[in-house]
Amino acid sequence: MSGTITHKGMVPVARPFVGKEEEHAVLEVLRSGWLSQGKRVEEFERRFAQYVGADHAIAVSSCTTALHLGMIAAGISQGDEVLCPSLSFIATANSIVYQGARPVFVDIDPRTYNLDPNRIEDAITPRTKAILVVHQIGMPAALTEILEIAQRHNLIVIEDAACAIGSEYRSNLINGRNSLLACFSFHPRKILTTGEGGMITTSNQDVARRLRRLRQHAMSISDMARHGSREVMIETYDELGYNYRMTDLQAAVGLVQLDRMSEFLERRRSLAARYTEKLAGIPWIVAPFQPTYARSNFQSYMVRLTGDAASRRDALMQSLLERGISTRRGIMASHREAPYRDASWDSQLPATSAAADECIVLPLFHQMAQEEQDFVVESIREVGHGLA
Ligand SMILES: *Cc1c(COP(=O)(O)O)cnc(C)c1O
Repeated sequence: MSGTITHKGMVPVARPFVGKEEEHAVLEVLRSGWLSQGKRVEEFERRFAQYVGADHAIAVSSCTTALHLGMIAAGISQGDEVLCPSLSFIATANSIVYQGARPVFVDIDPRTYNLDPNRIEDAITPRTKAILVVHQIGMPAALTEILEIAQRHNLIVIEDAACAIGSEYRSNLINGRNSLLACFSFHPRKILTTGEGGMITTSNQDVARRLRRLRQHAMSISDMARHGSREVMIETYDELGYNYRMTDLQAAVGLVQLDRMSEFLERRRSLAARYTEKLAGIPWIVAPFQPTYARSNFQSYMVRLTGDAASRRDALMQSLLERGISTRRGIMASHREAPYRDASWDSQLPATSAAADECIVLPLFHQMAQEEQDFVVESIREVGHGLA
């Protein structure tokens, strides 16, 4: 086809950025004689806490396990209800069910894709114990309003900050300082990666202490403490614990990645701004909205399609894929998946359902070249004409 812009190879939707420094850091740990939760994990926790501005950071095996421990720390158990968005990765809701509690889905603000504070109070019942707030794809939720509602109703707030490392809420990094705790993910789809991994930050010292025990089988004395002791120490197990440890291999990678954060953020924000500028001429695309209180890390660049394009989203994604551009549907709606499927949710969550149907995540990664980005934008424009 004449006039069609082409590009060599696939443009992936995301690609982790790791370099020689990460390789060296891993080798060093492999040769050190201590592979799991040791000095590197301690150092990563210290540096992570410093970076986000938290008092305590507790490293774990993933954000999902972080959220599970968060639910335990919040005292969530059988019969309790926890408010959360359906429009989130399914691990958000799953972490509530792990404790035998029930997720109660609250609809979103269609502009930010985060919990709509105006809809929270209607969902509160005598069984409601907590609100699990998600800063979806790195865009901070309306924390102040949500914390006020929680305080009024005596509810605990936990932040699912899986995607929100480096995101700013009223000029502070997301850090769990004003809630009970915040949970971060280091999965390769997130900005900072350790392969798999997670972190919990909190300003509550008792909670931090308990989380440190829970992640290693609720052991009263850590392996590190026993290893370093000149006296024989016999540990006890004072409650039901888990093996949610991070390895020193992962932490070593995380430490290098932390040093790259400002570069990661700058690059993503500039690519995001460039997308918004280039897409402005396409009338059926709505670029991400950034409220004045927030600064996204642009972990993902998600657009909403309008009109005919919205109803033909999947065909549009297929056409892009055939041109070598990988996209993803936007954020999933958990209430449509088997563990949560219940016909009554759909009518209660109109903004969630619309967002789940009408959004696309465009390629955005650190190494993305301007010509790759131009290729994506031009292809969207052309494919859109084809659909019309
Ligand atoms: C990625 C993600 C998780 C899960 O993180 P893992 O580290 O993969 O367990 C949880 N919640 C949200 C909102 C996510 O995006």
